[in-house]
Amino acid sequence: MIDAHTHLTSCNDEISALLERAVAAGVERVCTVGDGVDEAELALRAAQVHDRIFAACAIHPTKAHTLDDDAKARLTTMAADPRCVAVGETGLDTYWIKHAPEDTATLDVQEEALRWHAELAAEVNKTVMIHNREADADLMRVLDDSAQAPDTMLHCFSSPLDVAKEAIERGYILSFAGNVTFKRNDELRQAAALVPAEQILIETDAPYMTPEPFRGSRNEPSLIGHTYRCVAEARNQSVEELVEQVRANFDRVLTPKN
Ligand SMILES: [Zn+2]
Ligand SMILES: [Zn+2]
Repeated sequence: MIDAHTHLTSCNDEISALLERAVAAGVERVCTVGDGVDEAELALRAAQVHDRIFAACAIHPTKAHTLDDDAKARLTTMAADPRCVAVGETGLDTYWIKHAPEDTATLDVQEEALRWHAELAAEVNKTVMIHNREADADLMRVLDDSAQAPDTMLHCFSSPLDVAKEAIERGYILSFAGNVTFKRNDELRQAAALVPAEQILIETDAPYMTPEPFRGSRNEPSLIGHTYRCVAEARNQSVEELVEQVRANFDRVLTPKN
């Protein structure tokens, strides 16, 4: 299995221990993400050391106000590294603007940072990895008229069905996390059922989004099998077939193209 988006440096354990448990559970490769410049550098370092780890580098939308000239220079260097396979996570998050406005970048600042990251992704010819929390309309507007990366991946897809349809039509990659297993999230399972084989990925977003039946404890890549089983069932296909599709998509979307 593949874990297309995780935060190994936030999982409160040694990366080698997390990786060992993941491999024992059948996880072949992971893409790890940092949420600030320092964390992105740690993610990239992990990817340079471990064959099974790839990195995505960016500043998280909630921290978009920290994207200064120094951060831009460091991210530009990271994005060019062969072990960095995507620019992300970038995007828009209005949830934290509502719940912690004093610590969260404003929407204008987030939009500007998203445009900058999209341009960087286009420049280095790598996937742009998008975080979206309660910002569907603004996100679709900005993605439509910002620089076009070769692929756009909507990580932890959690939007309504109409957004899923629009994203599919635009050719975006939809990546599903543990919340697709939650009882109340029927609409997410319907979205997962709609996604064409070439546009689907599976992730943990660990340490967040722990899948059922482990909800309430800390998530890590070794728990991803439950999400694969749930999505395969929603799509009416075998887990083996889904694993094959996700692996092929990972190879296409989350490997450097130049
Ligand atoms: Zn995110
Ligand atoms: Zn994340």
